[in-house]
Amino acid sequence: MILDPHIHSIYSGDAKGTPRQIIKRARWVGLDAIAIADHDTMQGSRVAEKEAKSFKDILVVPAMEITTSKGHILALGIQEEIKKGVTPQEAVDRVHEQGAVVIVPHPFVRYREGLFVNVQDLKVDAIETLNSRYIFGYSNWRARRLAKERNLPMIGSSDAHFTAAIGSCFTQIDSEPNIDDILTAIIKGRTKPMGSRTPLHLILKEVINKKIKRI
Ligand SMILES: [Zn+2]
Ligand SMILES: [Zn+2]
Repeated sequence: MILDPHIHSIYSGDAKGTPRQIIKRARWVGLDAIAIADHDTMQGSRVAEKEAKSFKDILVVPAMEITTSKGHILALGIQEEIKKGVTPQEAVDRVHEQGAVVIVPHPFVRYREGLFVNVQDLKVDAIETLNSRYIFGYSNWRARRLAKERNLPMIGSSDAHFTAAIGSCFTQIDSEPNIDDILTAIIKGRTKPMGSRTPLHLILKEVINKKIKRI
């Protein structure tokens, strides 16, 4: 499965693209699953879930990006919104209570509220080690090093704030095509962050070719 787990919609306030436009674009670039993770709201995610019902070839994982008191947390598979401003530990506990997955996005990007700039010992499920917006800095590299040190699953995502960026980075997941198994696969570390500034259609072609070779 090819998942872009971190996309922003108009409901974020700082992004372009309606959930419908995002779904269209995601299907066009060949993604199997997406998560619309707007800042402190699940509205975009909920609209996307409804919109996606008319398509059989794309899964929408319910999500949001929570602004905790110390930085951002990406929650995948959640059902109930979590309020802005809670402590990171509170956010993690509430996400886990819902059986959902905690990912730390852009953990070391200071000006984007990277959580691990401020917090060191927090138990999370996965780390975003490839964020398409920070390809050229050290932040992805530091995130990757930390994930290796702590033996945590690695996630790649576009963090797209406009539709053309969707899927520029993504996560290849060894899972069945359903949300529960995607979440399990993330926790178990059956993930591979991929992508770069290389045009996406070339990357996807590569992935698909590899899949064919394996078969
Ligand atoms: Zn963020
Ligand atoms: Zn974001």
